[in-house]
Amino acid sequence: MANVLEIQGLSKNYGSVTALQNLSLQVPQGSIYGLLGPNGSGKTTTLGIVLDVLKASAGTFQWFGQPYTGTVKRSIGAILETPNFYPYLSAYKNLQIAADIKKAPHSDIPQVLEMTGLAARQNSPFRTFSLGMKQRLALASALLGNPEVLVLDEPTNGLDPQGIADVRNLIRNIAAQGKTIILASHLLDEVEKVCTHVAVLQKGILKAEGNVSNILAQQDQVLITVPQP
Ligand code: ATP
Repeated sequence: MANVLEIQGLSKNYGSVTALQNLSLQVPQGSIYGLLGPNGSGKTTTLGIVLDVLKASAGTFQWFGQPYTGTVKRSIGAILETPNFYPYLSAYKNLQIAADIKKAPHSDIPQVLEMTGLAARQNSPFRTFSLGMKQRLALASALLGNPEVLVLDEPTNGLDPQGIADVRNLIRNIAAQGKTIILASHLLDEVEKVCTHVAVLQKGILKAEGNVSNILAQQDQVLITVPQP
């Protein structure tokens, strides 16, 4: 299987703080790839670097064997923080604005609304949405332009149990359409339920990487420090 993302020897220091140390990993095409680790283990830093939001102190990475530019950039949808939607505008109008910013066609909007289960609420103002619906709208927005890869930082953070279940189902459905998903999570339970592959990070160091089932089989060694939900 080809790799969507390859990282070699990535390190990141913030002054005297070492956030990442010599991280190497490969994300297979079609996987739901979890970056698992407790707070401060370097997950957000890793995602920031591969999306060119942060500069690495050392190391390299390639998307589809290429730098993160042009066409490659357009084939990756990301939610690193909650997007700023307009509270008094409808979900549909918010997606039109997002599509214009991303230079994605408006013809994508009905499809992403359908996919995220928001079609029936497309004319409701954003401010009337539950947190789970807001996160699904963020996913709808990330899906505009039909990217091959979605990168999500803690996609279920702060949601109620229904919202968590909805977003996890949606992630599985998106992956079932052939897209690759990379998600950061501090929840072992989430990675177990949603991901096919996992990289376990601890204090910026990779402790284990591979199929979720293989890694969980050795969880006494590698997952002992990851908090349960
Ligand atoms: P969280 O879920 O809390 O965001 P994380 O696993 O995503 O955790 P990072 O946010 O990547 O971890 O942080 C890794 C380390 O780098 C932590 O020790 C953090 O305090 C430190 N760090 C992150 N950003 C900065 C910054 N801008 N300046 C200084 N230190 C930072």
